Amino acid sequence: MIEENYREVEAKVREAAVRSGRAPEDVTLIAVSKTKPLSDIEALIRIGVREFGENKPQELKEKYDQVSTPVHFHQIGHLQTNKVKYVIDRAVLIHSVDSVHLAEQIQKEAEKRGITAEVLIEVNAAEEDTKFGVTLDAAPGLVEEIAKFPNVHINGLMTIAPFVDDPEENRPVFRAMQQLLLDIKSKKIDNVDMNVLSMGMTNDYEVAIEEGATMVRVGTAIFGERNVK
Ligand SMILES: *Cc1c(COP(=O)(O)O)cnc(C)c1O
Repeated sequence: MIEENYREVEAKVREAAVRSGRAPEDVTLIAVSKTKPLSDIEALIRIGVREFGENKPQELKEKYDQVSTPVHFHQIGHLQTNKVKYVIDRAVLIHSVDSVHLAEQIQKEAEKRGITAEVLIEVNAAEEDTKFGVTLDAAPGLVEEIAKFPNVHINGLMTIAPFVDDPEENRPVFRAMQQLLLDIKSKKIDNVDMNVLSMGMTNDYEVAIEEGATMVRVGTAIFGERNVK
């Protein structure tokens, strides 16, 4: 069931990539396994899936430590400074960096271990009160500040678009993100790459890809409704 769901989403991801004039392999599908048991992850590992997303640092740590095969885990949810230690050498990419304060803690923990942390800057593109992330206007300044940390490498941007009935409503949000990515890229800031655009979830990943997403984070369409704890 989960395997079939994954295959279906994967096919739609490929079609959307081709529709937008890109190669299917330019878009990475992240299976968002938050709240789901390890057995669900193992089922997908058996069919070759290697990219998983978690929003709680401790849950990412537990699953990372228990999984049968080394796979990539993405920290996609809000990260508090005191939880950086759980994900710093486990998450392949931290999608949710939205302050200098958090980046400073990531710098400390990365330096301690002699590694470079790969991160994205989270942008609250629709400026919703309920969401984390920096505003579109403040994003370039934040990127420049965080670029100064030698053990923190910015790879691009992430956003969580509003929950809407019609995914078309989010097209302008995704378009603004793509434009922001290009604007920051053109500044050619040292220690900054703008190659990753993480946007699009179950309801709107196809529109997100059409507007330039290089990573989509899909949970419900693959695993079914979340298990509430
Ligand atoms: C839960 C979550 C997702 C996946 O949401 P679905 O609508 O279930 O696909 C994507 N990104 C983040 C940051 C999330 O927390």
